[in-house]
Amino acid sequence: MSEKRTEIEGTGEFRLIQKLTSNFINRQSSTLKGIGDDAAVISISDTHAMVISTDSFLEGVHFNLMYTPFKHLGYKCVVAAISDVIAMNVVPQQIVISVAVSNRFPIEVLEELYEGIHTACDVYTLDLVGGDTNPSVSGMQISITTVGTAKKEQIVYRDTAKENDLIVVTGDLGAPYMGLQILEREKEVFKANPGIQPDLEGNDYLLERQLKPEARKDILRFLEELKVKPTAMIDLSDGLASDLFQICEASGLGCSVYDEKIPIDAKTSMAAIDFNIDPVTAALNGGDDYELLFTIALSDYDKIKGNPHMTVIGHMADAASGKLFIDKNGSVVPLKAQAW
Ligand code: ADP
Ligand code: MG
Repeated sequence: MSEKRTEIEGTGEFRLIQKLTSNFINRQSSTLKGIGDDAAVISISDTHAMVISTDSFLEGVHFNLMYTPFKHLGYKCVVAAISDVIAMNVVPQQIVISVAVSNRFPIEVLEELYEGIHTACDVYTLDLVGGDTNPSVSGMQISITTVGTAKKEQIVYRDTAKENDLIVVTGDLGAPYMGLQILEREKEVFKANPGIQPDLEGNDYLLERQLKPEARKDILRFLEELKVKPTAMIDLSDGLASDLFQICEASGLGCSVYDEKIPIDAKTSMAAIDFNIDPVTAALNGGDDYELLFTIALSDYDKIKGNPHMTVIGHMADAASGKLFIDKNGSVVPLKAQAW
């Protein structure tokens, strides 16, 4: 170890990964895609490749056990993990799970966690094919590796968007973030006065999007039926701004995104206003959406026009134009991404 000390804090996750991995080269000709996409792509035959991705979930960082039922936690971890493989336009097939738990948890808790994992395997037709179990001295940790195989030509990367492509997002954004704000508020109320029951009335949609999200495997089928192959794709885990940044940086392009086009459910907007948060900020930076963000050729626009699952929010541009956000008044500001 060198004497030099650079704090991790403030570096940004993406710069940190780049710093750590920039001097690794791929030595195997079967490695079609290494670090830098939602999943790695490994050739398994002339025509097919395996896609593989791993994700970790840490107590106190990614989940809070004060308000996360274990069943939901198991389900959500699987959803978040398979979402990266789906973002490659590949149907996830197998998962491997490692858990680290301290002995403050009884076995029943792990059984509940595994009930949630089991449900996710049923819903998404996944096989749990292995894992590892260890004691932990500091909180629970769950790591999930997902694999899927597909025809090579079917796989969609982050770095292949083209200038003038349309930017499309699935579902609506910001709801999980507002769900989290509600849970955090009620946690503080409970800590101050344990006698008060949490007030979660009327917030079912937002809470469900936070506690029991779904991965958009259904979109892969819709795209196939519509005969649309996205030119680039990523899943929305860090927030629209940050994940769109990834497509732009990887593809060497800029973009323009229109505030008024961003799909936000009325319940999300109402909760955001309650919390004094701009709904668009929740959609741009909230994260945990697990929707898909992809780009399509302009010539495919007619195929997705009016589709209730997909919204065009802007278009790709040359790198020199920058990454732009056009607000409701028509003012143009640079798009900001926190994870950078
Ligand atoms: P996602 O948010 O889609 O899960 P990440 O932002 O976590 O992706 O990671 C971006 C890329 O960097 C991925 O290709 C991932 O495999 C790779 N990566 C992340 N952390 C590490 C690490 N510690 N060592 C090697 N590669 C990493
Ligand atoms: Mg991802």
